[in-house]
Amino acid sequence: MSRGAEARIDLGALRANLSAARAAAPRSRVMAVVKSDGYGHGLVPVAGALAESADAFAVTDFSEAEALRAAGLRHRIVLLQGPYTVEDLHRAAAGNLELVIHSQWQVAALVENRLPSPVTVWIKVDSGMHRLGFEPESVQSVWRQLTETSSVRADIGFLTHLACADDRDDSATRRQLEVFEAACGGLPGPRSAANSAGVLGWPASHYEWVRPGVMLYGASPFVDGHAGPDLQPAMALEGRVVAVRHLRAGDPVGYGATWRCPVDMPVGIVSLGYGDGYPRHAPSGTPVEVAEVRVPLVGRISMDMLAVDLRGLSVSVREGDQAVAWGGKVRPEEVAKAAGTIAYELFCRTPPRPQRRYVEPGGG
Ligand SMILES: *Cc1c(COP(=O)(O)O)cnc(C)c1O
Repeated sequence: MSRGAEARIDLGALRANLSAARAAAPRSRVMAVVKSDGYGHGLVPVAGALAESADAFAVTDFSEAEALRAAGLRHRIVLLQGPYTVEDLHRAAAGNLELVIHSQWQVAALVENRLPSPVTVWIKVDSGMHRLGFEPESVQSVWRQLTETSSVRADIGFLTHLACADDRDDSATRRQLEVFEAACGGLPGPRSAANSAGVLGWPASHYEWVRPGVMLYGASPFVDGHAGPDLQPAMALEGRVVAVRHLRAGDPVGYGATWRCPVDMPVGIVSLGYGDGYPRHAPSGTPVEVAEVRVPLVGRISMDMLAVDLRGLSVSVREGDQAVAWGGKVRPEEVAKAAGTIAYELFCRTPPRPQRRYVEPGGG
């Protein structure tokens, strides 16, 4: 029996989730965010699956943008943090990559360096998140400087990022949109503000381009975990039952003996651990799917294994039966919440070890 730990990625789910983004923002074009190795799902396979339906892709690493070009994708590709060095300007020109410009040194570099072909840029406006971007008052002058250099194509876009869109009741988002609109008021060019939470929760943030990320992978961007349309988790983290133990009342399970059997009972040992990306901080009680039933996790997570309470199962579980940490009957948001994190981090922290297996809808 193989260890059987793998991350099954449903390419059809990715496409369905992108359709959900389009349905939510029907007048906007879609820049699919595939940074951080497609949120841990695999950059090139994810982009390949979305190639027909996405209008553009967004990444943060030049190596990721170049990998997309090398894979034959001819879409618009946006570097969300722009160039990190002057050399990056030449990489952008060579790869026809678009640059988000957030800092005065980047403007100066574009003005001072003659590029073999002009690049498309987006001006990042700090509308209130105070991470990256120009002060709203300086946007007009940055725009003027960029229009005057031959290194930059005429159609300059405007982009901002929302800090609190994941909370539908937080008025900070409305204020950010007002600041953004005022900052690029009167200037031509496309605007983009919406992340997944903006796409699903804030129609006023849609503008010409939306930038969904986590929703494409099927997780809710909202603090309350509710997503509106049914998003389909694209990743299922799967393992197997490697042992069924019949333990006595009082027997401890796992490192540190942090959990003891309250009664004589069956305990399943599953071939998934923190070395496969399962969060070590998930507490006893976190749901795990075993033989198509949700059962509670017990004891500490090991590198290669975790344990589950099998008392609730009417069917008898056998070694070799399938277990699913998330993506089946357990949503990734549930595991994330139990472990004190968010689904974004669960996805991005899935290491290479559980092999990615890509399937089409209905595939095995
Ligand atoms: C990551 C990112 C997104 C996507 O955010 P989600 O919350 O995953 O939808 C959009 N815009 C920028 C600038 C980002 O860095």
